[in-house]
Amino acid sequence: MMNYIDFHTHQVPADQDVVAVVDGRDTWGIHPWKADEELVVPDLSGKLAIGECGLDGLRGPSMERQEEVFLQQIKLSEELEKPLIIHCVKAFDQILRLRKELKPKQSWMLHGFRGKPQQLHSLLDAGFFVGFGYQHNEESLRACPIERMLLETDADEGHPICELYNNVAGKRGLETTTLCELMAENYRTFYKNEPIRT
Ligand SMILES: [Zn+2]
Repeated sequence: MMNYIDFHTHQVPADQDVVAVVDGRDTWGIHPWKADEELVVPDLSGKLAIGECGLDGLRGPSMERQEEVFLQQIKLSEELEKPLIIHCVKAFDQILRLRKELKPKQSWMLHGFRGKPQQLHSLLDAGFFVGFGYQHNEESLRACPIERMLLETDADEGHPICELYNNVAGKRGLETTTLCELMAENYRTFYKNEPIRT
């Protein structure tokens, strides 16, 4: 059976053929908007990833506080060997610098990427996986190697994930079924062979 993997969403999917990494259910993290809360880490053994976490230059507490909380979560990601799902708004250079400086072993997904190809290539060079949703830069979507691309709906209620797969498959000249298989491979790489949770 063909599954559509949604790599980052805030809703439990209703469709049976969707496998979703649901924020809060399958992952745990402190969103930068809530970075002024005290960091209390629960038992994370059942979680696939740390996140979403990151930096937001437009919302939330001071950048200094956000970075402090983000660093704690990077540390957690390394200690627990779980990848990181990153929210990044107006903080592109900081996130890039952190990955280059800290040289983490875990994979990082920069989710909801809408940047231009130049930014995309900086991310790819630094080893990031890049999350694409409905709102994306066309050129970047075409330029991103499929093996570094993760598809996601995030908070978008208007478009089911299968629609995004059809859209991206069309733009990349792939059959949707092939794209599904390639995303399943990316899941296994990103989650280091964790079985896909259906
Ligand atoms: Zn999100």
